[in-house]
Amino acid sequence: MERINDIIIVGGGPAGLTAGLYAARARLKTLLLEGEVLGGQAATTELVENYPGFPDGISGPELMERIERQARFFGLEISAPSMATSIKIKGEAKEIAVEGTKYPAKAVIIATGARPKKLNVPGERELQGRGVSYCATCDGALFKGKKLLVIGGGDAAMEEVLFLTKFARSILVVHRRDELRAAKILQERVFDNKKVGFVWDSQILRILGESRVEGAIVRNKKSGEEREIKTDGIFVYIGTEPNTTFLGNLLKLDREGYIVTDENMMTSIPGIFAAGDVRCNPLKQISVAVGEGATAAISAQKYIEGHLK
Ligand code: NAP
Repeated sequence: MERINDIIIVGGGPAGLTAGLYAARARLKTLLLEGEVLGGQAATTELVENYPGFPDGISGPELMERIERQARFFGLEISAPSMATSIKIKGEAKEIAVEGTKYPAKAVIIATGARPKKLNVPGERELQGRGVSYCATCDGALFKGKKLLVIGGGDAAMEEVLFLTKFARSILVVHRRDELRAAKILQERVFDNKKVGFVWDSQILRILGESRVEGAIVRNKKSGEEREIKTDGIFVYIGTEPNTTFLGNLLKLDREGYIVTDENMMTSIPGIFAAGDVRCNPLKQISVAVGEGATAAISAQKYIEGHLK
């Protein structure tokens, strides 16, 4: 009979793949389940400049492909696409369900990451894929010579603004305050770029267009003035929310739905660990996710060996 998995990892971004690399290298029988495509949000980033070891930067997809290759080299088994739909506790063991198939394991590492938040305004859902996008790396090239709006003032928004200037004729950043949240180095670059303008203190009320995006109604929060801005595309970068729906009420979550763990990455249920952007850490960075993935794998090993309760 086939031996049950020591560890099942749910999610194949930087945290999950690194956990897999560590667990497989520790000679634990390890299966990684990825619901969509490997690499997670990192694989939708055009250029990663702050991951150590790559002084000229490295493309997100290439970085993730390298980590995957390294993990597979040590024997990590990967199943993708395999969307986990629930986790059940069966005595000492945990059981992960994936579309009717049940996978038992001694320990589980959840590394399902986060997904882009939506604006939740009229027109957004209807025009998604027809001018509304959450991924500049995926869709940016479709907007050569076009006018764009980018919504948000964080690191993701500013990185993607800079990427989109390669294609777009002009970009207006619509931000709800009069100050960006992004790292200073990114701010310096966007302020220096002649293609980029700003609409401060403003929020999108509605996205306009029949078969494609044609514009947006924007409201200035200070003056209350509403106006229409014509645009060919709208890229939304207003933060992320954790992928935890499949967990139901199983684990303790924080107010925003991120998984609470101790310093060993152990969740409120012994033997279930969490790592990366799905965890309630204040720093959503690839380097942090990688560190947490490694910690979770080592902790899971100690748990299986009976050294961690
Ligand atoms: P974020 O840092 O949470 O920034 C979200 C931005 O969107 C903020 O400027 C926020 O405004 C705005 N916003 C939030 N909700 C909004 C709404 N409903 N309507 C309009 N605007 C809204 O999110 P992020 O940029 O996606 O980054 C997520 C995490 O990943 C962060 O920890 C970030 O540092 C990290 N990250 C790092 C890098 C990097 O290091 N190279 C790259 C990408 C992401 P306020 O500023 O007013 O709150």
